[in-house]
Amino acid sequence: MTKRDYRFFMLSLGLIITLGGCFGVRSAVPASFDMANLAGKANIMPIVIVGSGPAGLMAALYGARGGKNTFIIEGNKPGGLLMDTTEVENWPGETMITGPRIIEKLRAQALHHGVTMIDDAVERIDTASWPYKIFTENGQILHALTIIIATGASPRRLYVPGEERYWGFGVTSCAVCDAPFFKEQEVVVVGGGDSAVEEAIQLAAFASKITILVRKESMRAAASMQERLKAYEKVSIRYNVEVVEIMGNDTKVTGVTLKNHATGATELMATDGVFLAIGHDPNTSFIKDVIPTDSAGYIKVEGRTQATLVAGIFAAGDVEDHRYRQAGTAAGSGINAGLDAVRFLDDHGYTPMMAAAIKPQLHGATRSLPALAKGTTADGVIELETLDQFNDIIKKGGTVVMDFWSETCPSCKQMLPVFASLAQEYADRALFVTVDIDQVPAVVEKLFVHKVPCLLVFQEGDLIARYTNVMNRKELSAFVGQFIKSH
Ligand code: NDP
Repeated sequence: MTKRDYRFFMLSLGLIITLGGCFGVRSAVPASFDMANLAGKANIMPIVIVGSGPAGLMAALYGARGGKNTFIIEGNKPGGLLMDTTEVENWPGETMITGPRIIEKLRAQALHHGVTMIDDAVERIDTASWPYKIFTENGQILHALTIIIATGASPRRLYVPGEERYWGFGVTSCAVCDAPFFKEQEVVVVGGGDSAVEEAIQLAAFASKITILVRKESMRAAASMQERLKAYEKVSIRYNVEVVEIMGNDTKVTGVTLKNHATGATELMATDGVFLAIGHDPNTSFIKDVIPTDSAGYIKVEGRTQATLVAGIFAAGDVEDHRYRQAGTAAGSGINAGLDAVRFLDDHGYTPMMAAAIKPQLHGATRSLPALAKGTTADGVIELETLDQFNDIIKKGGTVVMDFWSETCPSCKQMLPVFASLAQEYADRALFVTVDIDQVPAVVEKLFVHKVPCLLVFQEGDLIARYTNVMNRKELSAFVGQFIKSH
């Protein structure tokens, strides 16, 4: 952009400041919002959306359709919690649709309208000067004119003794992923909301007995959800009981200690698995020092807008909504946030002419993620088929990295492309093996794998490391890299 252009925009900005009280999300334009600050900057993004669930994808659609270059930083769990959901009966216009299908459709719509997807995650945001700086896990520094935080919420933990010890060995928060490990076993579901009902129903296809443990004398779940439970004889509900400890035999869960709030008594209850469905916490730790949140960590927004208390930064979905928390309401607030961001740019001198002038300075990423992972692996990854094949691979020695996954585990599928790229990077130093747990149960049993995703590392025939949980791109790369580099 030439100096003349900037002078023009400064004049426009002055006019906007004068008229600012008449319209706009915010009436006053902070002195720091000076389009001249963009001179010499690279990696500029007019609208950056952090998070790619329904709120983020709808915000992006409205940003792009509002004529602004819009980028989504997808995060470590693209698609968010809907990816762990099976049947959804209350998505607008659909009698029944799966969570992943909703995301697939929203993503396709956003891409169609020119949204750029960035395969990265945000580490921190610096709001000390404008444009705001976004630092990503892959080491990028991005300059954002507006930001929409749509990072959703994560499943809550009980924080009782035994939970951490047996996480992945009978304790989990994802029935969609782990229910097949509990065939003909007795399990408990902790919680009294819609998620607890959903988890119990998913488990009913596998477990022999499911007990929902509710800490109050009634469930919070919607009446229609509670009604659905009546069709499942295997499912029973116990009220007024709280899990105070999870016990095991060092290998896996064997029971829980319950405190009965009605009687005050404590009792032991035998169980093979503990499924947590006790709500969610907003994913705001990465912005907690820069964007005001309430005492529970939810981002505060102003009135009937999605504006946060930091000018030019907006929030949408579960990260700011502790009241409704529906996929539909998240999408709706995403629409509002997209409109707010477009309006904010319009109000602050980001005209079509300005957009054309800074085009060469825009972030150049046009790369879009591959379609939702379908469990495919890249060349160089061995897809294990038999126990004999496993024995042969281990006998050969060297370093072997194994990734256990299942068709029903969305998080596992998200890790597969990263695993494949590591396989290519370290092709000459290790063997990379993927194991579909439904295809090779003998190997799963032999290696005591009770939860997916699960990573095992062998060196010279010995099992030297085991990790049972979702890993983001950076964690998986660091985990695998440490063994290969040290070998
Ligand atoms: P909720 O916050 O609605 O419910 C959490 C449940 O966990 C409550 O019953 C709560 O008990 C209980 N709980 C919290 N902490 C503990 C603890 N330490 N020990 C024992 N119990 C505990 O969360 P959900 O995840 O169920 O639902 C979140 C949102 O998602 C809701 O709006 C829900 O409607 C929606 N949803 C919709 C679905 C659908 O339509 N298909 C499916 C799943 C979720 P208490 O009541 O005592 O506080």
